Amino acid sequence: MDFDTIAAISTPMGEGAIAIVRLSGNEAVSIADHIFKGVGGKRLKDVPSHTIHYGHIIDPANGQTVEEVMVAVMRAPKTFTREDVVEINCHGGLISVNRVLQLVLTNGARLAEPGEFTKRAFLNGRIDLSQAEAVIDLIRAKTDRAMNVALSQMEGRLSNMIRHLRQTILETLAHVEVNIDYPEYDDVEEMTHQLLMEKAKYVREQIDRLLQTAQQGKILREGLATVIIGRPNVGKSSLLNSLVHENKAIVTDIPGTTRDVIEEYVNVRGVPLKLIDTAGIRETEDIVERIGVERSRQMVKEADLILLVLNFNEELTKEDEELFETVKGMDVIVIVNKTDLPQKIDMERVIQLANGHPVVTTSLLEERGIEELEEAISQLFFTGAVEASDLTYVSNSRHIALLHQAKKAVEEAISGIETGIPIDIVQIDLTRAWELLGEIIGDTIHESLIDQLFSQFCLGK
Ligand code: GDP
Ligand code: ZN
Repeated sequence: MDFDTIAAISTPMGEGAIAIVRLSGNEAVSIADHIFKGVGGKRLKDVPSHTIHYGHIIDPANGQTVEEVMVAVMRAPKTFTREDVVEINCHGGLISVNRVLQLVLTNGARLAEPGEFTKRAFLNGRIDLSQAEAVIDLIRAKTDRAMNVALSQMEGRLSNMIRHLRQTILETLAHVEVNIDYPEYDDVEEMTHQLLMEKAKYVREQIDRLLQTAQQGKILREGLATVIIGRPNVGKSSLLNSLVHENKAIVTDIPGTTRDVIEEYVNVRGVPLKLIDTAGIRETEDIVERIGVERSRQMVKEADLILLVLNFNEELTKEDEELFETVKGMDVIVIVNKTDLPQKIDMERVIQLANGHPVVTTSLLEERGIEELEEAISQLFFTGAVEASDLTYVSNSRHIALLHQAKKAVEEAISGIETGIPIDIVQIDLTRAWELLGEIIGDTIHESLIDQLFSQFCLGK
């Protein structure tokens, strides 16, 4: 395909003071060449592909030196966009990189729209749609682990899985077609039913597996909603503070502190947590406080993980026992705090109430037991999980919706087979599942949807 040449500032992932002006398109090299002065008069037009060159950016209008740069020249098709790509590495910070961008724009390039580089990679057949969407997630990823998920999706794990399922459906449909056209055996109808059933069930199972990872994907991006509960004074706020203090806080744009609930984002051994300290779950007469209590209850109901804090220095109360009742069936870690004080709590009873959930003892005052708590959190999160590199996460809501629809179509096929509906109706359902899966990787997609998707990207990607 033929497009005009686009340019944008593209800061690399991770740290580093270097900022990059990236160009892509037929004129990328000649535009860069026009404003570049290399050592010994070297011209970018003449350099081999995939090489980097030291020099200066000169404003052709007045001959002034704008910036000292390293310029990478990468010619089509072995580039991210499959077009000629030039990357001008500036080390002078944002102001100078902006000046270089301005120069590039006044010399023939057009400012790229957000996501336009990735859009070109897609339109030029370099990546498929689910890979492109993984780039969106990559840009938004808040933690290392979420980043890895986005990366492996980009490498095409999800795409491969979807392709495999589509292939299975296609082969099954073809097989059925052959059976119908060339009935060599008497029991061909039964055989066809059997084959259809087996394959449809397999596809449904695989879609289910992918859907199960969706919840995990959400958690990775938004953090495990972790609610700290306990009677007043047991050490809830102290717990929140020490977890925040000990761990890398995650920067977030989600609003935090309110009158009754405090939220903090932290990363505990690769597990992103959204820590929520509630004001207390007690019954109360105070109207204002009751609103807080209502909210607390709601937060508990929606929590992914509960940290239930008890006081080592006090006997268990009825309130404590009620808290255990409230969080029944949820993921709970019991924390018995204030072990620096004399024991008054009945630990046997605590373990009984915990009912198999981990019990950790801490002295937040003396900073003891926090390691064990962190270990319990990561254990809980990663138990039963395969090696991180083996996971295929579905983390995109459009993919999830499509998987649900595809699953529904497969289920209709299955119940059709069961009730002995004519084969060609079953074929329609399976074809529909095939199409829906295809939409995930962009094989059967409409232009407007593509535009909508790519407009979500950041500039320069
Ligand atoms: P919250 O009401 O549950 O949020 O409890 P706070 O975190 O505000 O703690 C209540 C009081 O207990 C504060 O004075 C804390 O300093 C104190 N505290 C917290 N953890 C410990 C601990 O492990 N040992 C002792 N002795 N005091 C603690
Ligand atoms: Zn508190």
